[in-house]
Amino acid sequence: SALDATDKALIDRRTKALGPAYRLFYDQPLHIQRSEGVWLWDKDGRRYLDAYNNVASVGHCHPHVVEAISNQLSTLNTHTRYLHEGVVNYAERLLATMPDPLGHVMFTCTGSEANDIALRIARSYTRRQGVIVTRLAYHGLTEAVAELSPSLGEFTPRSSRIRLIDAPDTLRIPAAEQGPKLATDLAHAIAQMRADGIEPAAFIVDTIFSSDGLHPDPAGFLQPAVDLIRAEGGLFIADEVQPGFARTGDTFWGFQRHGVVPDMVTMGKPMGNGFPLSGAAMRPELVQEFGEKARYFNTFGGNPVAAAAGMAVLDVIAEEGLQANAAKVGAFLKAGLQHIATRYPKIGHVRGAGLFLAVECITSHETHRPDATLAHFVVNHLRENGVLISATGPGANILKIRPPLALQQTEAQLFLDAIEAAFAAATQR
Ligand code: PMP
Repeated sequence: SALDATDKALIDRRTKALGPAYRLFYDQPLHIQRSEGVWLWDKDGRRYLDAYNNVASVGHCHPHVVEAISNQLSTLNTHTRYLHEGVVNYAERLLATMPDPLGHVMFTCTGSEANDIALRIARSYTRRQGVIVTRLAYHGLTEAVAELSPSLGEFTPRSSRIRLIDAPDTLRIPAAEQGPKLATDLAHAIAQMRADGIEPAAFIVDTIFSSDGLHPDPAGFLQPAVDLIRAEGGLFIADEVQPGFARTGDTFWGFQRHGVVPDMVTMGKPMGNGFPLSGAAMRPELVQEFGEKARYFNTFGGNPVAAAAGMAVLDVIAEEGLQANAAKVGAFLKAGLQHIATRYPKIGHVRGAGLFLAVECITSHETHRPDATLAHFVVNHLRENGVLISATGPGANILKIRPPLALQQTEAQLFLDAIEAAFAAATQR
């Protein structure tokens, strides 16, 4: 479907008003207007299966979340320096989903801000500056956390306080080596940092390595690296912006799949199902001195509406059994993709946990060379046929599949049929 004149005009106005830094998805950008559950509708009333959006994670415009937000919005919304039950109830309920040592949670509005405050607290507690992240990590957009986001590319400067290590690679590194290799690489990075007079404050990872290409397996591989950073006097920060809130099916948090307990956990995206809500949880002693000396005030973070949104999301995950659904429908989807992979040799690998799946496109099984052209073709073919995903990873060759957690089996089948048709069309191209 070619863009019509209205869309072309809107793109021009958008570029003129918003400037050159913004990007749109797809060769033919999508002009959406309305959403419900796992579906989006464009301005011409055409329906799309959203298999990408982990913001509206409990489903677009979920009535319980919408009602909670609207009720609170029409009752009270203000800054966060009054006594209000909402934020306390929510904090208690959120902390109850985490292991005991994580005893405090502080609220922010974006994932970037959650990582930013976690970083400040980690540096102030350890009185150290160094941070280790994976080579293609994304942890946010502020001046401080953009440094921790090498996936932003060469233009974003990085000080010598930040060191990069290879992410795991489920396709190219044997399963048994993922954990030991990560720890060895971390040890090297720490040694190099120290050679420059910098001590490690923290090792921070997205526990499903989303921007590194999605590497969930084998569950448990994080343990040696976590042990190592602690032995070296640094903290382990789990960025749960991507895997958190039941997405991975078998556990509520991504770090739980690895059997580790982080010193800090940061979260965002699905937390308010689209309402800006994020946070950082931590062991209480980490924030003790910071709390006394630096204080914390965030005008919007955890305001009454945000707390209501967060609470409603937790309600829906529990009441609709979305974690179990993510495990069940995720397994169905993964098996279906693995079956499709047997027919298309350029599908190098299918992996994932729960409703967070990746299909890696390669040119051959001998070289494992990324096939970004194929990934691009499949993403755009799906979009033309009413299914939305995207591609990620170092070679832009890894299809990222991340539908709302309430995805049903019939919708998953629809997805499988569409992706199979896309690979078939790519073969004939
Ligand atoms: N951490 C991770 C792992 C993310 O994927 C993102 C967003 N893509 C962020 C942090 C930053 O979140 P936000 O865009 O809400 O600032």
